[in-house]
Amino acid sequence: MGSGAGHIFRLCVASLGDLFFPRFCLVCGAKLDIGVRHLCPSCADDIPLTYFWSWDGNPAEQRLAEAHVEQACSLFFYRRDGGYGKLIHRFKYEGDIRLGRRLAGMLAGKMAEACRAAERKPGTKARFADVDVVVPIPLHPLKKFRRGFNQSDVIARELASALGASFEPKLIRRRRFTRTQTRAADRRSNMAGAFVLNEKALRRLRSAGARHILLVDDVLTTGSTIAAAASVLPPDFRLAAATLACVE
Ligand SMILES: [Zn+2]
Repeated sequence: MGSGAGHIFRLCVASLGDLFFPRFCLVCGAKLDIGVRHLCPSCADDIPLTYFWSWDGNPAEQRLAEAHVEQACSLFFYRRDGGYGKLIHRFKYEGDIRLGRRLAGMLAGKMAEACRAAERKPGTKARFADVDVVVPIPLHPLKKFRRGFNQSDVIARELASALGASFEPKLIRRRRFTRTQTRAADRRSNMAGAFVLNEKALRRLRSAGARHILLVDDVLTTGSTIAAAASVLPPDFRLAAATLACVE
């Protein structure tokens, strides 16, 4: 089958799929055109981007300052009552890994572009440019078993490949089960001591000459989860963080 015929064939299959399972924009609910996924063009244009990737001292960095995280960024602002929170829900709780990869790919593109822009401007500090290792925040094994995947792994893989860094999911692990808690004070006390360092993975990183770690999670709220993970890493590593969403 030629590429033209193949394209028509794929369109027919997609339209048949849409006939039986019509797709709707996750944010506004409008019916999507054939071949369009997750967002209608208007909602895709209106994603509340943070621009943290090129903003020194941004709100994410302020939340993580005490954790010695030097640079931090998120793709978009997340409001609990706003439509864009549905993107995270769909990815995380409904297992739409394709959506997670798409959002992570967008963030990766923004971070890589910020690195290139800094390289072109003499005297500008290249944010994220020398990250050598990307580490997802681990889920407790029981939670991962129930969910079937760790959403942070999906994001971290995309970022590692875009930044030319290695993906290292075993550097830290969860120590105990932590219940989802929303109040800031509860989260802080709940997260302290939640992670332990894997010494074997650390030796492997050191022998590979790694110096700069990017910690990755799906949503940045108070910063307590990333801070707890950062607290078990040796102080001679530089730390950065990235999340898909940032709670305003
Ligand atoms: Zn829409």
